[in-house]
Amino acid sequence: MKKNDIFEIDITGMTHEAMGVGKVEGIAVFVQGAIKGERVIAKIIKVARNYAIARVEKWITKSLERCEPFCQVYKRCGGCSLQHMTYDMQLRFKHEVVKDNLERIGGFKGIHVNPVIGMEKPMNYRNKAQYPVGMDSNGPISGFYAKRSHTIIDSDSCGIQHVGSETTKNVVMDIIKDLEIPIYDENTRTGILRHIITRVSYSTDDIMLILVVTDAKVPKLDKLVQNIVCRIPEVKSIILNINKRTDNVILGDKVKTIYGAKTLIDNLGGLTFHIPPLSFYQVNPIQTEILYKKAVEFAQLSGTETVFDLYCGIGTISLFLAQRAKRVIGVEVVSEAIEAAKQNAKINNISNAEFFCGLAEDIVPKLYEKSITADVVVVDPPRKGCDIALLETMVDMLPKRIVYVSCNPSTLARDLKHLAANGYGIKEVQPVDLFPWTSHVETVVLLSHKKADDFICIKIDYNRLYSR
Ligand code: SAH
Repeated sequence: MKKNDIFEIDITGMTHEAMGVGKVEGIAVFVQGAIKGERVIAKIIKVARNYAIARVEKWITKSLERCEPFCQVYKRCGGCSLQHMTYDMQLRFKHEVVKDNLERIGGFKGIHVNPVIGMEKPMNYRNKAQYPVGMDSNGPISGFYAKRSHTIIDSDSCGIQHVGSETTKNVVMDIIKDLEIPIYDENTRTGILRHIITRVSYSTDDIMLILVVTDAKVPKLDKLVQNIVCRIPEVKSIILNINKRTDNVILGDKVKTIYGAKTLIDNLGGLTFHIPPLSFYQVNPIQTEILYKKAVEFAQLSGTETVFDLYCGIGTISLFLAQRAKRVIGVEVVSEAIEAAKQNAKINNISNAEFFCGLAEDIVPKLYEKSITADVVVVDPPRKGCDIALLETMVDMLPKRIVYVSCNPSTLARDLKHLAANGYGIKEVQPVDLFPWTSHVETVVLLSHKKADDFICIKIDYNRLYSR
């Protein structure tokens, strides 16, 4: 097999990145854009030692689950990758991804995974958009990066973003063109404006606008602000983020509020949250509420427990838990988020939640040394999963239950394997679709300690015992 060869291939499976998988001459071929059950004519575009990559030239049979992508720039944009599948199929695909990771990486053969909880209307669900800004021959452009590249795909409407984000970005671009604000050029490292970021509160429609710039001295800044707030009244806050870096990192460390509030306010599950510009906040508020309620349900709290919420961000899950626990301890590495978590507890009149700033793998062993332990631990780590030092301390601490919230099924499976080898059993696995049309999936897992569950209750009938 060599590059440019053409084969007829039956697609018998899918990779976790949603490429079709078939076999040619005993070698696995990953076919971009093909769906399980299809028969295609495909051209080989790359041959590696034990696999090849191909592109569909023509379909012989198409899957009934194939649908027309709703986005004009679907093929080029690196944002969504499942728009050629019906929503129903996406949910089944994500279910397979979670199950397959747990079986293959975790070693949990035949594990039951609940069906993925999907969205009723999986459109315009994102509350945060990051638009790179650049130049083409006609002037400034902005939109999204192309797949695995830094080429900007100019786009003025994205079906997964809140319409407020799209309008804000388009109006800001108009104003920037009018005022001739210099656009940053990655090659020459000149210019000022790099990214337009929007965060939208789904409960109020308020918008926080973050302009990522190389220098806080933006020419005509007053006019820029005046024009933006006059034309988009929903913008309640404008923040400059100063990023002088020359690598691919989007955000710098410094922020400066140049208009309005320092935080965006959103309501979730009856609680109010202040969200600072650089802190993590789940991007799909409708599904997040479902996810957090599942996490609370899995925690099975009666009001007497001490609960750790590790990787707590601005204290969202912590405050959901605090309403049913005796004491909640949240741990998070970003200090701005911890400050917000403390403030969020206060404004919601929650007095049984404390927050510590630092790495979970440093703070939790220190708490344990001081005999501060948890009955239930909730973890919600970033994509790389939990640090081994944290997993080891958790196992030593012996909480009755662990609730693991994960955005990455492969590190979830790795960490569950460690916990399972140390006395914890998986009780329930619930994936939730927080990211429709993309290949990402969120999962919440309940584990309980086998010892705690394995007590046998024996009743002794003393009358019978002594009457013998
Ligand atoms: N539970 C929160 C945040 C989850 S995202 C929510 O639902 O909103 C993961 C969070 O972990 C981020 O806020 C990130 O800053 C934080 N984080 C990353 N590595 C960490 C570590 N080693 N220790 C503590 N927090 C960490």
